Amino acid sequence: MTTSPTRPPSMAPAGTPGARQQGNGAHPAAKPLHDQWSEDPGAKPIVYVNGRMLPKREAMVSVYDHGLLYGDGVFEGIRIYRSKIFKCASHMERLYRCAEQIHLKIPISVDEMVRVQRDCIAANGLTDGYIRLVVTRGFGTLGLDPRRCPVPGVICIADQIRLYAEDLYKSGMRVVVAKRPKTPVACLDPRVKSLNYLNNILAKCEAIDAGCDEAIMLSTDGYVTECTGDNIFVVKNGRVFTPPPVCGASGLLEGVTRAFVMRTLCKDCNVPVEERLMRLDEVLGADEVFLTGTAAEIIAVHSVGECRISNGEGPVTARLRNRFRQIVTSDAIPED
Ligand code: PMP
Repeated sequence: MTTSPTRPPSMAPAGTPGARQQGNGAHPAAKPLHDQWSEDPGAKPIVYVNGRMLPKREAMVSVYDHGLLYGDGVFEGIRIYRSKIFKCASHMERLYRCAEQIHLKIPISVDEMVRVQRDCIAANGLTDGYIRLVVTRGFGTLGLDPRRCPVPGVICIADQIRLYAEDLYKSGMRVVVAKRPKTPVACLDPRVKSLNYLNNILAKCEAIDAGCDEAIMLSTDGYVTECTGDNIFVVKNGRVFTPPPVCGASGLLEGVTRAFVMRTLCKDCNVPVEERLMRLDEVLGADEVFLTGTAAEIIAVHSVGECRISNGEGPVTARLRNRFRQIVTSDAIPED
């Protein structure tokens, strides 16, 4: 199936030639999230927008906001487990660091940002869910000049999320290798979680075209970096490897889940882990491959393109994922 130059895949009506196959059949997006809220889908969640708590239907930003006009801003995706903000401090550290890297001064303190999140969790009665924090350049003029945007916008949405069906975690998923390379660090550092995700979205369109949900992205000089919305790990002879933050010309988002796998889960499971520059061959020749991300958590990859990696989730991935689930369902959710 070819990519329509004018319409992204998700906008093609089902059953039309432009409609993409949903990877692996049961895609959770089929069930609208508002079903989980109430009879009135516009009432919940209550969303924080620039200092106000508003029902979903009223939670809006200006068409002059540079976050919308130019993708000028930063964001975070954060999990809520048992009403706690998982790895809250790590997410705050990344958010404020990324904002600084794009010369954006977040108008509220870290403590206030944490309070906003706790208010949204409480207002929506969430125990398990997902927080999307967005900081935009703010309302400005139609030109690019960020100096014309005096007040950055701050948005906090606490909602539900489910990326993949439960059975996919046992069976593993198929991914492809995107033809489109990852933006080089010299152009836009992928370590910055900016609102500018088109490079990833267009690689994701390649995955969707190929009938799956994720794509491995290579640097312009051929190193494995990460997937469109997840970090990548390989397992070989009982050892775990993942690409370093800068790989050749490009790099990757230093995922909070990636750090948790490296620093906590691998240690707890007694599995050696190291960062290593990788070519695609190392992924194709791995015993196991898995992806990590806040929304996806830990998910196995059974095939890369036409190359079979494993039959379902491999034993090391299973151990790490079990340990992950043990921790996030315990009384001690790490908020560091
Ligand atoms: N890489 C990219 C490009 C991402 O967008 C994300 C977040 N969805 C990740 C990796 C994983 O990061 P984290 O574990 O912090 O969610």
